[in-house]
Amino acid sequence: MKCIKCGAEYPAQLLYRCERCGGILDILYDFERIRDRIDFKVIVARRDGMWNYRELLPIEDYSKIVSLGEGGTKLHRCSRLEDKFGIKQLYVKDETRNPTGSFKDRPISVAVTKAKEFGVNTVVTSSSGNAGASLSAYAAKAGITCFVFTPTNVALGPLSQMAVHGARIVTVKGSVSDSFKIAQVVAKKYGWMNVTSTFLCPYATEGDKTVGYEICEQLEWKVPQWILIPIGAGPLLFGSFKGFTELVKFDLIRDLPRMVGIQAEGCAPIVKAFKERTMEVRPWKNPKTIASGISDPLRGYTQDGNLTLKIIRKSKGVAIAVSDEDILDAVKLLAKEGVFAEPTGAVSIAGLRKMIDDKIVDRHDLAVCVVTGHGLKNPNRIMDMLKEPRLVVHGGNGLKRSSIMKILENRGDF
Ligand SMILES: [Zn+2]
Repeated sequence: MKCIKCGAEYPAQLLYRCERCGGILDILYDFERIRDRIDFKVIVARRDGMWNYRELLPIEDYSKIVSLGEGGTKLHRCSRLEDKFGIKQLYVKDETRNPTGSFKDRPISVAVTKAKEFGVNTVVTSSSGNAGASLSAYAAKAGITCFVFTPTNVALGPLSQMAVHGARIVTVKGSVSDSFKIAQVVAKKYGWMNVTSTFLCPYATEGDKTVGYEICEQLEWKVPQWILIPIGAGPLLFGSFKGFTELVKFDLIRDLPRMVGIQAEGCAPIVKAFKERTMEVRPWKNPKTIASGISDPLRGYTQDGNLTLKIIRKSKGVAIAVSDEDILDAVKLLAKEGVFAEPTGAVSIAGLRKMIDDKIVDRHDLAVCVVTGHGLKNPNRIMDMLKEPRLVVHGGNGLKRSSIMKILENRGDF
């Protein structure tokens, strides 16, 4: 493990922050040694989803892997959206297909596997929904106890997932920054493993790398010009980019994509810093957006935002914000491609549309939008924005069948 701030190195252990400076820890690999041991032809021929890439994940004992079939998600070509946006090649990396309905299953699968390796019997996370839902399922599978600290506004989907898998749920009245703090204090006091999937648990972030690997593999080692990712703190953006840089080390690709971090206008601390050309992200005062998964004010851990900002700049990417109205439009547009995303998941599509309108993305570019979570997480929110989509008829004697047929034949207006 290496501190990204001061460069201090540590042997692999249960450590969350640099002991010397408090910086974020990153996992290092001995690529010289790994290179001789692995064959990408073998890797891509496997059928283990994200664990196809197990040699590049920080696991020592493969018998301890806790998996529910995460990763290996589809990369859809979206021809209808290509026509609508006027771009030549648009793909969606469909992370709604993960076992609990979001990309979080990747980092959580690595983190829970690591918990097994460390012999830990209780895990804890702070989560606005998806990570908590994911951890509950993986902890259940691993047979270990799970605590989830959530802010007040958790959607019913993830809450029911946490409950049914037997997590102990604690609602902290406040934002996700408040639940982050409490999870940290409690984990320290009782010696539980904190797998909070911002940048706190370095093992978790490693799972996010596989999104980068898979996109390249699915495009037959062609590198997209743009990767668009919804960001709260941004570990998925950091992780995906790390995945691409590692493929360069294996000579599988030469160029790197430009990373686009997209936030909601109502909570955009990283975008604000990007626009102001500063290196220091400042906490957001009053987060307010329907994209609850990225409604993260970063209070108490702005260094997470600084790291994501650094990667965006390093990749010559951009950070942009989109309105709630644009996000809901993007949910509808994705639905026309057969993909049902939660508002947070559709943020990448809203961002791409804006970047094409602003002429940042060229119509000849290849763009991949990562769609992070499933629409069934919060269906009420989706129903609110659609007009009553049903025609209700009597099943009994109330209405003759021929009358129903007549209504269906003239159904244009319902
Ligand atoms: Zn340090």
